[in-house]
Amino acid sequence: MEVVNTQFDLQAFYQQLASAESLLLMLDYDGTLAPFTTERDKAVPYPLIVGTLEGLLASDRTRVVIISGRTVDDLKKVLSLENTPELWGCHGLERYSREGQYSIIELSDDVREKLSVLYNWTAENQLVNFCEFKPSGGAFHWRGLPKDEEELIHQKVVDRWRNEADAAHLDLIEFDGGIEIRVAGTNKSSPVAQLMSESSDQIVAAYLGDDRTDEDAFEAIKGRGAAVLVNENLRDTRADIWIRPPDELDDFLRRWI
Ligand SMILES: [Mg+2]
Repeated sequence: MEVVNTQFDLQAFYQQLASAESLLLMLDYDGTLAPFTTERDKAVPYPLIVGTLEGLLASDRTRVVIISGRTVDDLKKVLSLENTPELWGCHGLERYSREGQYSIIELSDDVREKLSVLYNWTAENQLVNFCEFKPSGGAFHWRGLPKDEEELIHQKVVDRWRNEADAAHLDLIEFDGGIEIRVAGTNKSSPVAQLMSESSDQIVAAYLGDDRTDEDAFEAIKGRGAAVLVNENLRDTRADIWIRPPDELDDFLRRWI
């Protein structure tokens, strides 16, 4: 573990963790709790952390929320934990409470129409096998593909959607292993801001994530909790702390408990 933000006081954070009445732990899924696999439906959590996560979920002291680009349904399938945590899918568009209640933010007719154009275009261009369809758009994945195929998919998506995205209220976002077209403004800063606003001022919070798309969440939690980069490699980041999975991740979660 390394503190990468010199303004961040790790010892003070640990002291707050020990004394706080309520805690909020927000977690990204792919690349953070689970290692990447070329078969996305087989991306289960690191075996090392499963017991620790179960322990965390069994205690009422921490509100644990997984915030992912995946759909809630997809998350439920890969998580396979005894206790299902609160899940916010499609970057917060979908929500699944600990009590098992599902809800989704309604999209406008205009946006829904554009999304159906996107789905048809994906089929017409033989990209269905690479596309993860979701209520918020589509993510095109190329992890494990040869470089030329990756470039072909990337080019096709960018050529077709770059100029139209703005007018269609869609965002074109590159992530580690692909590119996503999604409803504008659905990034991880809104769910983090929402969760923080639902919490008391005294809450101690952290957000853990691996990808460039998690930088929005790091920004949103700045000054109000710990932003934690979970990655094999340190990169230019707005995070406060950098940890390597799975060993340092497990240490962090144990320390949290
Ligand atoms: Mg991730």
